Amino acid sequence: MVPEKEIAGGRPGPACVVWELTLACNLKCLHCGSTAGGRRAAELSPAEALALCEDFKRAGARGVALMGGEPLLRKDFFGIAAKVRELGMELSVITNGTVHGEEVFSRLAALKPRAVAVSLDAADPALHDRIRGVPGSFQKTRLFMERCLAAGLPLSVITTVHKLNIKELPALRDLLKGRGIAWQVQTAGGEGGRFSRELLLDREEFYSVGMFVEACRREYPPEELPVIGAHDLGYHSLLLKNVSLYEKWEGCQAGVSVAGVRSDGGVLGCLAINDDRFLEGNVREKSFTEIWNAAGGFAYTRGFTRAQAGPGCSDCGHAESCRGGCSEMSLMKTGRLHNDPYCFARIEQELFPEELPGTLRRLAGRAAGSFARLGLFFSGKRG
Ligand code: SF4
Ligand code: SF4
Repeated sequence: MVPEKEIAGGRPGPACVVWELTLACNLKCLHCGSTAGGRRAAELSPAEALALCEDFKRAGARGVALMGGEPLLRKDFFGIAAKVRELGMELSVITNGTVHGEEVFSRLAALKPRAVAVSLDAADPALHDRIRGVPGSFQKTRLFMERCLAAGLPLSVITTVHKLNIKELPALRDLLKGRGIAWQVQTAGGEGGRFSRELLLDREEFYSVGMFVEACRREYPPEELPVIGAHDLGYHSLLLKNVSLYEKWEGCQAGVSVAGVRSDGGVLGCLAINDDRFLEGNVREKSFTEIWNAAGGFAYTRGFTRAQAGPGCSDCGHAESCRGGCSEMSLMKTGRLHNDPYCFARIEQELFPEELPGTLRRLAGRAAGSFARLGLFFSGKRG
């Protein structure tokens, strides 16, 4: 164990480090932002990976999420996962759910993970397989889900929405509800090399995904369908109050409460930002703790001021706390930070430019007030 006194002072450690254990992947998902498939040339060795776990602990990290590529393709996956737990950090695993022998479920269960998240993009097997690029993926992933549930693992499903599968949301809801599965809905970005930008949702489609999540939250209690939108689905909507895991959007968390580490040791504020200009360092040259605590590090979020907001956000009353929405969405859509055009508040201003009609205002007051119960499903404490 890393002694408590060795934990770095200065700023609080990240609530979660999302770690791309490997870029190797057995699938060829259309929307994969990092175009995973082969390993990075300089992937961290098993010894480096174990040392990095200690480094995360020294930096004060409270949790580590292991993802890929496909993390279960790394032969030392369970050694790294066990190290994370031995050090007292929470463990999450994000997998495509197609790489699993019989032993995987009991070994995962022994580690008491906070979450095991699996990607499911359609209730229609043929469509899921088409999106994932490999026939038979759907059946393997469904089997993975059932085995996770049988092993008592806290299962989450992540659905990435684009034009090909937006109509699948109701069927996915029906597949997942009543099973104790936490469901995260997110929208595809256009960074990956296999994804045609023509498949990106337009603003109306994007808003309708928010409406879908809101409608689910109003219709079903968290015990029946714990569903949230990811960081890209927000913010400051007058109507859609129940889309996020949190009651209040606190702005992009890259380098604030989350960090991302690539499988070659490169450190980013968030792995969703697939842009080398935002690399803060490499753990082979400097420790993660030093990178996390560096003065002036992660300046785009930690040092944000309203003056940096893009033209779409500069006159918004929420700009200071919002920091212009999701950095990844803003970069992908507009080529710059702090200017997220896919923002519920902005979309509503365009749809209802004068004043929201009275009926909509009444709807706006109906928050479900169930965030605390919902949180249990995304924290591994669902009882
Ligand atoms: S307009 Fe920009 S700053 Fe305002 S809520 Fe939307 S993303 Fe945030
Ligand atoms: S870039 Fe987007 S997904 Fe990443 S921390 Fe910021 S808001 Fe969240």
